[in-house]
Amino acid sequence: MNEHGTGPPGSNSKEIIGKHGYLFIISAPSGGGKTTLSRAVLSRFDDILFSVSYTTRTPRSGEQDGVDYYFIPKDDFNKRIENDLWAEWAKVHGNFYGTSADLLDKGLASGRDMLLEIDVQGTIQILERYPESVTIFLMPPSLETLRKRLEMRGTESLAALERRLLNAKKEMTQKDLYRHVIVNDQLSIAIENLISIIEKYRSAKYS
Ligand code: 5GP
Repeated sequence: MNEHGTGPPGSNSKEIIGKHGYLFIISAPSGGGKTTLSRAVLSRFDDILFSVSYTTRTPRSGEQDGVDYYFIPKDDFNKRIENDLWAEWAKVHGNFYGTSADLLDKGLASGRDMLLEIDVQGTIQILERYPESVTIFLMPPSLETLRKRLEMRGTESLAALERRLLNAKKEMTQKDLYRHVIVNDQLSIAIENLISIIEKYRSAKYS
């Protein structure tokens, strides 16, 4: 287990305190455990608003529209690009994913803290808009572990799995863009670390 970063809020992050809530961004390579970890955060802090992303990907079994993602056709996605409606968007593993600017801006303006689960390309764009976002990267202990997790999950074809692994390799080289890095080796410890990072920011805000 390993966690590093700039630590709890310094003077810069104060600006986000007050009118706006904190924006927590979690990224992890596919199979890196981000959904499980985000769920743990949301059940621990039930006032954090989860930003439901839009995607052109087909729903996996059990995924619900409006809960896991808003599943939309490619045409709709493109129209929203033309109308400048995304806070960020990216093509990931051959599908498009985006965060609604309206949902994000309104959520933050209401003073609520928000949680975004997006990839590295999206994080770079959000940091341009909200430079004080609290960015957290979940590192798998190794690519081999990641491969095993994806194989066990069994949601991808072999080609899609290879593509996700290649992308994971690339994303892992960009982990230093993030304020905090958590190695997701043992799930319970990773959850504890993630919650304690979020708690530190929130307790600075409310104290
Ligand atoms: P999955 O298809 O496994 O749900 O997600 C694939 C990747 O897309 C993950 O890395 C996930 O973080 C990323 N992703 C999900 N939603 C968004 C989004 O709104 N924007 C961006 N840039 N990436 C996203």
